[in-house]
Amino acid sequence: MLVMENNANRFICNYEDISDSYELLEELGRGKFALVKKCRNKKTGELFAAKVYGKRAGRRGERAKALNNEISVLGIVPPHPRIVKLLEVYHGQTEVVLILELVKGGELFERLLQESVGLCEAQARRVIRQILEAVRHLHQNNLVHLDIKPENVLLVSHDKDSDIKLVDFGLAKMLKEGEIIRDMVGTPEFVAPEVINYEPITLAVDMWSIGVLTYILLSGSSPFLGDSQQETYSNISHVDYDFEEEVFDTISDNAKEFITKLLVKKSSKRMTVEESLNHPWMRMPLSADTSLESETSPSKSPTLKVDRTRYRRSEVQI
Ligand code: ADP
Ligand code: MG
Repeated sequence: MLVMENNANRFICNYEDISDSYELLEELGRGKFALVKKCRNKKTGELFAAKVYGKRAGRRGERAKALNNEISVLGIVPPHPRIVKLLEVYHGQTEVVLILELVKGGELFERLLQESVGLCEAQARRVIRQILEAVRHLHQNNLVHLDIKPENVLLVSHDKDSDIKLVDFGLAKMLKEGEIIRDMVGTPEFVAPEVINYEPITLAVDMWSIGVLTYILLSGSSPFLGDSQQETYSNISHVDYDFEEEVFDTISDNAKEFITKLLVKKSSKRMTVEESLNHPWMRMPLSADTSLESETSPSKSPTLKVDRTRYRRSEVQI
């Protein structure tokens, strides 16, 4: 039954054996290439997430590429509390199933939908700090995620101060010294200018997305979203965004400076993950985040903003 072992606790198995070991339960979510279901280990009763990739080649073989990226990156990244764990891979004729640690609190995206504007600043800071911890671990291992967005950040519980885990390594890559990678991949609203311009990909691509994500978490709005994809790309290329007064006048200068130092066109001038963790906005004591309700929350303001730039689930991938 066991065909190959590629890491201490990650096994590659025959698909035919999956029903011996797991009972597939309800759907948890779906993305471009995969369907994710809750599943139960028949022996231990423990719950996991099964990410089912159909084997049919997608456009330009993208599905196969995503599967390959996910298995190779999650297979080599040393375990980290903020990164979803891959436990087993079942290879079948028509499907490949990844057995992942189950993350029970839903997507950060859904959490954002509960707020009329954005999260309060302390909550946003806590989420971003944990994302930075996950990304620091990836970057220390020369891995770049390339698809950081609210749908790919999951909450461990339904509590307001829940911890997070980063998922979806379908675009993730290992950057090797001396090797130049150019790839037009990502989700339009989150991609860095160098990706649009087909310039080399570096770890800094993730830092740009974290800048976009921070803006969205604090405001509920997408900073570069235009009326067409073309316009979105033009806004990104010109770093054309602003801190709309109505929402951002209750947000601290430190938070705005944090975003400004990530949304920098020249990738070498952008804050690195280490610099971001050391930025004054992040260095506010953890104790400040324990009383999450103590800061002014834009969501408590009566002016509900229903506007065109409100962040919605991104259906498009480049
Ligand atoms: P895709 O590459 O197709 O976008 P994802 O890995 O992002 O696939 O999974 C799609 C969705 O499934 C996620 O946005 C999330 O809602 C859900 N999901 C993925 N992994 C897990 C997990 N380990 N635990 C719980 N839900 C998950
Ligand atoms: Mg996804």
